[in-house]
Amino acid sequence: MLTDREHQQIAENWQQVQADVARAAEAAGRSATEITIIGVSKYVDSETTRSLIDAGCHALGESRPQSLVTKAQQLQGCDVQWHLIGTLQRNKSRRVCEVADVIHSIDSLRLLQTVQQHAADLGRQPRLLLEVNISREAAKHGFEPAELLTDWEAVMASGSLPIVGLMGMAGLEATPHEVAMQFESLRSVRDQLQQRYEIQLPELSMGMSGDFEIAIAQGATMVRIGSRLFTGLDTSSH
Ligand SMILES: *Cc1c(COP(=O)(O)O)cnc(C)c1O
Repeated sequence: MLTDREHQQIAENWQQVQADVARAAEAAGRSATEITIIGVSKYVDSETTRSLIDAGCHALGESRPQSLVTKAQQLQGCDVQWHLIGTLQRNKSRRVCEVADVIHSIDSLRLLQTVQQHAADLGRQPRLLLEVNISREAAKHGFEPAELLTDWEAVMASGSLPIVGLMGMAGLEATPHEVAMQFESLRSVRDQLQQRYEIQLPELSMGMSGDFEIAIAQGATMVRIGSRLFTGLDTSSH
């Protein structure tokens, strides 16, 4: 059971993150209403996650498919959009398609085709973002920018799910300047795709607790915030 103080701490963190996002938007000459804060609940259990929902966060992200499925079940009936933000193996695709509203981590054509098939079988319509390898770190997943630009016809031919944008993660070792350049490169790939193929890719999912201000300055429409929402809690005990 969470204590009253813990519930209050989560509510305060949520207010603070909203205020910080609004300030970053204003500094970038943007409106905060253009930016969705995805509360990344991967560090905490369902009870703590529910407290975040009660505080007003209605978009939740999980990085592990199994955790997404479990939380979505345990929190059934809550007013939440479920986002998968971490690596998806094709053998987990069906389970994820059953519950996810948005999948940010489509990192290959094969995975895209599998998700299209499973979603069609289930009659589900998750919105998709394609993950782009913007940090160029070997360990990072995602399409190479050049690959995406040349293979877009195959992306379009993969099925009927709405592809709403791109997702990227900055390199762990990157300086703030490098982070800004990496996020800018994601926006640039998006802009080139829109122009070349006359499509709309409105969503840019980029920015986490440590770099969301930079991401918002570069055009992020979805920021994925985890640790900042749970500071002041002993998450290890949950
Ligand atoms: C964990 C995670 C986040 C949130 O990271 P914080 O630094 O805790 O805000 C965002 N995106 C992805 C893909 C993650 O795995």
